[in-house]
Amino acid sequence: MTDASTCPVVFADGVKCSRRIARRGWCHPCATWQDRHGGLDPNGRRSVPKRARAEVLAAALAIPPNAEGCRINDGRFAADADGYPTVKIQRRMTRVTRLVLEDKLGRPLGVDMFACHRCDNPACVNSGCLWEGDAAANLHDSMAKGRKPTGAVASRSKPTLKIEDADVPVIRALAAGGTPQKVITAQFGVSQPRISRIVNRKRRAWVE
Ligand SMILES: [Zn+2]
Ligand SMILES: [Zn+2]
Repeated sequence: MTDASTCPVVFADGVKCSRRIARRGWCHPCATWQDRHGGLDPNGRRSVPKRARAEVLAAALAIPPNAEGCRINDGRFAADADGYPTVKIQRRMTRVTRLVLEDKLGRPLGVDMFACHRCDNPACVNSGCLWEGDAAANLHDSMAKGRKPTGAVASRSKPTLKIEDADVPVIRALAAGGTPQKVITAQFGVSQPRISRIVNRKRRAWVE
């Protein structure tokens, strides 16, 4: 719902902001984002820049297909904890499969939707193998080939860094988008329980 009292920002992934307007016609987090980014329009603040997107797609296409037509990540992309090829864009970990599928569909993935594999191989970035599935399909995807969520806490990360308020919506969006908390933990360099408390709004509930 959008009315005169709610923030009109529509994020690049199609999600409406719809928070209460605080300043200059934006909600508090969107106006803060605008301040920090030199007055840029906060619409699309979750967007992947066109150039970065094109580079990732070109790199994915450069992987030669195997006999089944799969383009298996050969190390040019880092793999996340579940084996999905991942790139870091604007301090955020983004799954390559998501970008490839969005390019194939010509639109952002739906809210709470995931890039799933027909070929049951998470390392595959071939657009023909990808389809848009819900959380249940994604769980099946990540459990394919005998892999399963481990629930292990990433002990490598040093719980010394501070999470800034601006990071909180990014962390929640990553979690909502299906990024494992282990991966988020590695990205932000804090302990996994802290990420969990932020995601579950037991910390910083007032932020976005
Ligand atoms: Zn807003
Ligand atoms: Zn495949």
